[in-house]
Formats: sequence, C-alpha cells, structure tokens
Amino acid sequence: MNVPSVSEQLRYFRKQQAKIVKTIRQLVEIESPSDVKPAVDRLGTVLASRFAELGGRVRVHPAEKFGNHLQADFKGRGPRDQKPVLLLGHMDTVYPIGTISKMPCRVTKGRLHGPGVLDMKSGIALALHAIEAMLKWNRGKLPLPITILLVSDEEVGSASSRAITETLARKSSAVVVLEPASGLEGAVKTSRKGICEYTLKVTGKAAHSGLDFEKGQSAIVELAKQIWQISQLVDLRRGITVNVGKMSGGTRANVVAAEASAVIDVRVSRMGDALEIDGKLRSLKLFNRNCRIAVSGGMNRPPMERTAGVAALYEKASAVADELGWKLEEASVGGGSDGNFTAALGIPTLDGLGGVGEGAHAEHESVVISELPRRAALLSALITRI
Ligand SMILES: [Zn+2]
Repeated sequence: MNVPSVSEQLRYFRKQQAKIVKTIRQLVEIESPSDVKPAVDRLGTVLASRFAELGGRVRVHPAEKFGNHLQADFKGRGPRDQKPVLLLGHMDTVYPIGTISKMPCRVTKGRLHGPGVLDMKSGIALALHAIEAMLKWNRGKLPLPITILLVSDEEVGSASSRAITETLARKSSAVVVLEPASGLEGAVKTSRKGICEYTLKVTGKAAHSGLDFEKGQSAIVELAKQIWQISQLVDLRRGITVNVGKMSGGTRANVVAAEASAVIDVRVSRMGDALEIDGKLRSLKLFNRNCRIAVSGGMNRPPMERTAGVAALYEKASAVADELGWKLEEASVGGGSDGNFTAALGIPTLDGLGGVGEGAHAEHESVVISELPRRAALLSALITRI
C-alpha cells in the first residue's frame, strides 16, 4: 500500500472513528487516579499489551508511590542512528475511584463523556491509532522511529517521572505532547506558563488577647500585610500571576496568633521573570520586626517558551491542517504539562495534539467525537514530516 495523502489519511481515520471511540472508552473505564498505584498500573498493563501488539518494544519504569511509567519504542525504516520523535502523555487522572459511576462513559450530542476522557485518554487512543495506521501504510515499519512515554504522575507535578521524560527528550528530535487541544476550535499549544509554588511561614508570639495583648506578636497580622505586598508582584502585561491560594494561622479568637502560613502559586511566561519573582519572595521585608518569616519552595515546571524550534513544529502542523482545509490556531496557556520540561531543554515541542473538547477536570469533561479523525490525521501526518 502506498503512503496515502493527508486527505486520504483523514478518510481512513473517518472509517476508524468507531474503533477510536471504542479504545477511548476502554481507557476511560479503567479509572486511574494519580494516587492509587494499583489502578494506574492496571491501565498501564492494558496499554503495554496494546503497544506490544503493534510491535513496540515495551519498557516499564517502576515507580514506588505512583503507577509505573510506560515506554514503548518503535523502529523506523530510516538510518539506525535516526533520532525518534517522542510522543508524550500521561495515564493518570484527577478523579478518585468510583467517579465513573457518577460520570459514566456515555455518548450524548456527538460527545463522549467520562472522567479523563479529554485529559488525556483520548490523546493516548489517538497515538495508538495513528501508530497503527502508519505501520499499515508503511508495510510494518514506521517512516521514522517513535518513542511513546506515558507517565503516571503528571496531574500531581511529575516528580517521579520528570527525569525519565528529560532523558528521553534529550535523545529525541522533537516532542509531541498528547494533551488536549485548546478550546473547541482545537488550537495547539505553543507556549505554556512556568509554575512555581512557595510556602510562606510567619512566626510571631502567642499571648492572651485580653490579659497580655501587647506582649503578643501576631503572625496573622504580619501574614496579612505580606500577602498584600506579594499581590503587588502581579504583572498581567508580562504574564506574571501570583496567587495566594491558601492561608491558615492561629488557634483561637482569644489568642494572639503565633503562627500563620500561606501557599502561593506563581506563573510566569519567561524564565527570567521566575528568577526575579523568586528573588523578591526571598527578600520580603518584615512589617513587624518581632516576627520572623521563612519562604520555601520554588519552580515546579519551567515555562514552555515559543522558541524557533517550537514555531517550526507549529508551521508543519499548520501546513497539514491547510491541506485538510482548516486553519490550525496556536494558543498560549497558563497551565503546565510535561512539555514544559522538554521545551526548557531546548527540544522542539508542540503541545495540545490530543482530543478536542471541554471540561477537563470537571463534571462535564467530554471530547467531540467528529473531531477525532482529524486529530488522528494531524498527528500521523505531523509525525511523518518531522
Ligand atoms: Zn493532562
């Protein structure tokens, strides 16, 4: 069979639509919250056999607390030293076990619903079907080598998989991230903010609020002033947001609070801004010099910046879409993914190649079924052109 044109590829995937939906359904029905290792491992085992059936060499990276991370390598028909394209995804979801009974996997109004259906089980299914098709069109050997890595802890920060992701990215020519597309127009993501998390702890001195008020040093008052000061660091024009998302402190109404703390989420578009904010948070001035403050934490995901390599990948994807008669938009988003790690290493990364839908992490999470063939065609044609 000759390698089909992009529009022939789309026709092929239109015929495969029901099969793709069936795969997504199978993956959604195996619930896989990040914090339940046996559950994620169950999904990993099913996926390992799906990739092995296609001829992939499967490697399991054991993880102690989280599910094992799954890698599958497919050879290409080109030179032996040709670098692979890395397809990056995650198997974990944010939904606790049992959610499926309240949010069953069902089809309504052209959408498939279910926990994790958009983020990102449809992305995994698209990768499976794209690889299967490419093997078929190329007589069992892919046009270029592909490595797929599916991690199990992305929704909780990727601490246990980050090193694996970075090692594989360094060996790859480009990274394609299977996270959902942005918005119902299906844009791919060419930049993502970096994410930092800090904890600010204030220590004061406890005292009876009636008998010894003046002997107390209120950690709560100090924290409140610090929060006001920290909120001045927001600079929307530069894409810097600082959100004190959680605070706590004190023991009772009649005690001057000895302790108070806040958790701060910082998002930046550029690495330089992260360093600047970090410096400012670590040199906060005390309002009450009888209190003490301690700042801990730092960067979790570096920003994914729109480098020349990222832009070139977008151009390739956009050309594929042109041939299919639609305009592929690009988006810049505030949320992070594992693509932030690979882009920060300088490896060309394009994100948002997964399903199109809405409601990620929410009760109405769903994918648009009629968009699936187009996403599969985009994925397979893009990979072939890298
Ligand atoms: Zn995701």
